[in-house]
Amino acid sequence: MGTVYRLLLKQHIGGAGIPVVAKGDEVGCGQVIAEVAGMGANLHASVSGKVKDITDQYIEIEESSTQQKGFHPLSGEGSVGDIVKAAGLVGMGGAGFPTHVKLATKLEGGAIIGNAAECEPLLAHNIKQIEEHPDMIYRGIKYAMQATGATRGILAIKGKHGAAIKAFKKASNSADKIEVFLLRDQYPMGEERAIIRDALGTLLGIDQLPSAAGAVVLNVETLSRITEAVEEHRPVISKHVTVVGKLKSGTSSQVFFDVPIGTPIRTLIERAGGIDGNYGEIIQGGPFTGKRATPDDVITKTTGGVIVTMEFPREKRPLGLLVCACGGNEARLREIAASMEAVVVGVERCKQAQEIKGALKCEDPGNCPGQAEKILELRKKGAQAILISNCSDCTNTVMCVAPKLHIPVYHCTDHVMRTVGHALIRRLQSV
Ligand code: SF4
Repeated sequence: MGTVYRLLLKQHIGGAGIPVVAKGDEVGCGQVIAEVAGMGANLHASVSGKVKDITDQYIEIEESSTQQKGFHPLSGEGSVGDIVKAAGLVGMGGAGFPTHVKLATKLEGGAIIGNAAECEPLLAHNIKQIEEHPDMIYRGIKYAMQATGATRGILAIKGKHGAAIKAFKKASNSADKIEVFLLRDQYPMGEERAIIRDALGTLLGIDQLPSAAGAVVLNVETLSRITEAVEEHRPVISKHVTVVGKLKSGTSSQVFFDVPIGTPIRTLIERAGGIDGNYGEIIQGGPFTGKRATPDDVITKTTGGVIVTMEFPREKRPLGLLVCACGGNEARLREIAASMEAVVVGVERCKQAQEIKGALKCEDPGNCPGQAEKILELRKKGAQAILISNCSDCTNTVMCVAPKLHIPVYHCTDHVMRTVGHALIRRLQSV
């Protein structure tokens, strides 16, 4: 039996896909298998094979033994926005907003910002892609400028990525007005509003869109997929993914380009060397915002990382939770606390984390408003240890307060960072 690929009908912002194939159909790689009625994105077969199963959640395709190279091309007709829509492209940095909707923004005089922050620790596929294929990203910015009428392009990247910056500059032409902007090396400088604040000097409200600052922000993989759609008529059938953690092959980050959408996580981990003994959890995404997954979960259009962690430490003292808008949410911290066998006695939220449409948004991402009163509040509720998900700057503040009160601190990324021997998210070393 060939590998079975499970393509989720809902894997990003917008409506769920409606299948346009039937069980038993033979499909070719790149063929449309589900469409959306309203806002959303088409879904294409990521391999050639037979439709094995269809539910209200997914379409499964069993790969044929004679996998042919290539894919069913898009027609390539229409505007950049039309082609991108036909390709089923969504933001591949994690948020998954349909890209054709962003490209419909009118930005006369505005800017396309390429988000190359790769803010989540350990993930490496975006920077590697810039180093190896800067031209694809560069041309993606140009196509996005063409679609929106933007007159300026910016690649926002951390200064520590010297090789990627050099490669991108080499691919640049000064006549195109595409420049490089250097971001601070802190989490969450890749947050859309943080990038706009730092690159354009406009701090948007939590309910404002980037267009209010005359900008559209697109992740670097999304930009390269725009280029693929326009130039190669290639639909979105694969994803770049970083695999890292407690693996038999070692703990360094491994980048896999063009993993077919729907690939089981188990298969990808095996390709990366396999899990090394007992483990704590598998995370789909990055250490700050990723979600717990199982080996049977699958790669989607927004999956950036697969992380295998060490086992969790045990904590018997009453635990307080301090929740950030840009890191793990309360449910995620409670999940980690349960894995630590800890009893949660109180929950506080950073005062800049405001709820909007059921999710938390930070008023000024990455600039700490002070955390002392939150720590004292948790202590008042009986916490003798705390688990936090704060940004770099706020974690720094917590570490200036909690140890003096003899309150040990866990960060939601600690078990990930310890797995690979990476410095913990604690006091800022450099900015
Ligand atoms: S200021 Fe608060 S809500 Fe904003 S990123 Fe930092 S910890 Fe999160």
